[in-house]
Amino acid sequence: MTDEQGTPARENTDTSSAREAGIRESLAAAFPATVADLTDLVRIPSVSWSAFDPASVAASAKAVATLFEATGVFESVEVKQAVADAASGELGQPAVLATRKARNGRPTVLLYAHHDVQPPGDVADWQSPPFEPTVRGDRLYGRGAADDKAGVVSHLAAVRALAEQYDEDGGDGLDLGLVVFIEGEEEFGSRSFADFLEQNRDALAADVIIVADSDNWNVDTPSLTISLRGNVTFRLTVSTLDHASHSGMFGGAAPDAMLAMIRLLATLHGPDGSVAVAGLTESGEQVPDSPDALADFARDAALLPGVTPIGSGPLLSRLWAKPAITVTGIDAPSVENASNTLLPKVSVRLSARIAPGQDAREALAALEAHIHAHVPFGAHVEITDTDTGQPFLVDTSGWAVTAAKQAMADGWGVEPMETGIGGSIPFIADLVRVFPDAQILVTGVEDPDTRAHSPNESLHLGVFKRAILAETLLLSLLAGSPIPE
Ligand SMILES: [Zn+2]
Repeated sequence: MTDEQGTPARENTDTSSAREAGIRESLAAAFPATVADLTDLVRIPSVSWSAFDPASVAASAKAVATLFEATGVFESVEVKQAVADAASGELGQPAVLATRKARNGRPTVLLYAHHDVQPPGDVADWQSPPFEPTVRGDRLYGRGAADDKAGVVSHLAAVRALAEQYDEDGGDGLDLGLVVFIEGEEEFGSRSFADFLEQNRDALAADVIIVADSDNWNVDTPSLTISLRGNVTFRLTVSTLDHASHSGMFGGAAPDAMLAMIRLLATLHGPDGSVAVAGLTESGEQVPDSPDALADFARDAALLPGVTPIGSGPLLSRLWAKPAITVTGIDAPSVENASNTLLPKVSVRLSARIAPGQDAREALAALEAHIHAHVPFGAHVEITDTDTGQPFLVDTSGWAVTAAKQAMADGWGVEPMETGIGGSIPFIADLVRVFPDAQILVTGVEDPDTRAHSPNESLHLGVFKRAILAETLLLSLLAGSPIPE
């Protein structure tokens, strides 16, 4: 659509409301087929971890590529791999990349999701087999039913419904640029993500990036995720003795490594469990709060009777806006193998979540400085195997954020919440680094009962329907006007 001056024009209101009605109708009619596409994908056990059969991930990539190809919307649909390990040249798991060029000044939108899944864990813990998608009540159960094959299929369904509207126009159709990037190893650390971005930088370039891999406030209220914590992890080794020695002969005078480790770890938190490491910052973002928040949290986190939450301030600020430090593993003799010896050396895996707004390397430096300053008895410390992921904070003033909030309100019939996530999606930092000007919208199909990564993972079908509608309305809004100045 072009006006007399040859500049691209915004759609008029009649066209866009007719289109909205058409979208609602075609999504409703297509919903059973959409659920069927999702269940077909869930049947493929595409676990991306190295101990699992890569043939399943390859099959899942192929199935996803076939689905996007069948939309007829894309100029190119490919299954591609990139380098996961530069030293060995080992390739990462296959991703799907589909592109369609923008025309007439319309923006390009990149739709991200991942087709790989977490391992199922102990199958006995599942009420129905993890790779046999099963509907019970309002929910579809299965590994990947939500995280993130529902993200994949919500993009697919939105693209189909959008294309259908433009086909009916009889004109030359859709001017919106589209890129679909469905990753194959998000659950295995996105090892080849950075190389994939470098290799396909031109194909992936977009004005708006929709990452459909997050949560909603509840089954009736959508969320736009505006912040994520980053992470810093490392192995910490404390040594005090050259070799083990008898705890009767030497105990009480020779410091064992376990004692030194325990005392060192105890300095990381204050008496209420708040992080006590100078230099780890808080983001100060506003969070929703309610009088029931602590009790609800105690239930959701499965705290045992009498166990109290740690930290201070509104509960959600502890999860979204402040750092956390957890010891997630320890190398020391097991209780069964314990003998009366002073341990010479103990290692732990330390996992820290860092607040939005802090640089992950700066947080690592603060942790290292704290450890060196607090190590007792002159013990030797070593920090190795460090890994960092940057946190994420959205600039909510962007035009795409405004459009996304409008589309969510229309699609769900409820204003969206702006939420944080305590977890990390480290690849988002790669996206920000490679595409600094793109606006990143983190949406999703999960809800508080989804149990992603756990047994009995499930998708709420009402959430699925509303999330698809909201995304289609967003794409339609973006297709309807040129990129704002
Ligand atoms: Zn995911």
